Amino acid sequence: MSYEAYNDEKLGFTTRQLHAGYNPAEHHRSKAVPIYQTAAFELGDFERCIRLFNYSEEGHSYVRFSNPTNAVLEKRLASLEGGAEALALASGMAAISNTFLNIAVAGDEIIAVNTLYGGSTTLLNSILPDYGIVGKFVEDENDIESYKKLITDKTKAIYIESLGNPGMNIIDIEAVANLAHENGIPLIVDNTFATPYLLRPFEHGADIVCYSATKYLAGHGTTIAGAVVEKGGFNWLNGKFPQFEKFYDEYKDTIGKEALDKSIFTKRLRIRYLTDFGSHLSPQNAFNLLQGIETLSLRMREHIANAQKVAEFLEGHKEVLSVAYPGLKSSKYNELAKKYFPKGPGAILSIRLKGGLSAAQKVLGEVKLFDYMVNVGDAKSLIVHSATSTHFGQSKEKREKAGVYDDTLRLSIGIEDAEDLIVDLKHALDSIEG
Ligand SMILES: *Cc1c(COP(=O)(O)O)cnc(C)c1O
Repeated sequence: MSYEAYNDEKLGFTTRQLHAGYNPAEHHRSKAVPIYQTAAFELGDFERCIRLFNYSEEGHSYVRFSNPTNAVLEKRLASLEGGAEALALASGMAAISNTFLNIAVAGDEIIAVNTLYGGSTTLLNSILPDYGIVGKFVEDENDIESYKKLITDKTKAIYIESLGNPGMNIIDIEAVANLAHENGIPLIVDNTFATPYLLRPFEHGADIVCYSATKYLAGHGTTIAGAVVEKGGFNWLNGKFPQFEKFYDEYKDTIGKEALDKSIFTKRLRIRYLTDFGSHLSPQNAFNLLQGIETLSLRMREHIANAQKVAEFLEGHKEVLSVAYPGLKSSKYNELAKKYFPKGPGAILSIRLKGGLSAAQKVLGEVKLFDYMVNVGDAKSLIVHSATSTHFGQSKEKREKAGVYDDTLRLSIGIEDAEDLIVDLKHALDSIEG
């Protein structure tokens, strides 16, 4: 057979999650993507070595820079996201931290929301400021004026998450993207909780998407990995990003102007940050991720159907004060959910319990099917008390802004039979009174 499916962008999402970016004819016709378990590649001849190192020829020299297994993963992710180019990295935090460093230099600012993943908040609040890059946090992520107020000449990006943690808040991505573009800066979206199956932020104006691929993309709780995808088309040479102008001058004659115009962000991310900060994803982990992605759409459909059922059950239980899940009519994000998440707003939800901290502790002790873990996006159902784990050490005021109270539990709904999940939660909640 011929293997044209590897680069046919007209094929559907599920077909592409199985085939995009991989041409078996280039790999001894191995049907599985081979794991290139080597540290380096033979350079061939003197002239080829020079071409590899000035990037005028695509190819592999040392695995910290690139690897054929990872290259398939990167092409597949770019295809699923509808982006120009993608880069795989060692973890979600590597993807996010390298993205910030690629976009901002000392003296610059990044605007972000209060409902970010803990590690991202720490980066912008406590780590990057020591390097002269300052995170500015908006007062109200649903009020565009809050973002506007913070924009200065030093602002180099706006950073949001498509589904917030753990309140599952949804931001009006198009409004924020428009504001960013009016100011000549990109919008970066952490799309971890949504995956490209539920939401493709580029279709709503985003310029860069970051992933913790550890979660739904890998999907089975086996692998730490991250990725960055670039839409292409943002003008990085608009005078606000001197580091990209320098890079363009340095590589325009070897990488070529056309390739740089298409995806200069990813190329600089690879050649500067992946290469010299060294957050390389091992080819074994790239393989695990490719295997996970083969069933992404199927898993997400099950995750969502279960999450909706569990959320509706929880909303009706007498011990539950409130359920934060945008798929519920009672959610203040229900309208935004319909606009941005027609397939369903993810499968993570949080609840507040009437019985406070002691009730939360009781539920954690009583669940038999849900595992007590900080991870999310596993095929298995997980539960955690955010205030004493993911948001540990944050002031009460700061964490409550993100929807984390003493009585809050976060649930990551897996793909088990929904009835079993409901029986488990019912038993745990019913046991609170005793
Ligand atoms: C887990 C997570 C991260 C960090 O990813 P790692 O793969 O654990 O480094 C970043 N953002 C979100 C939304 C996450 O859930």
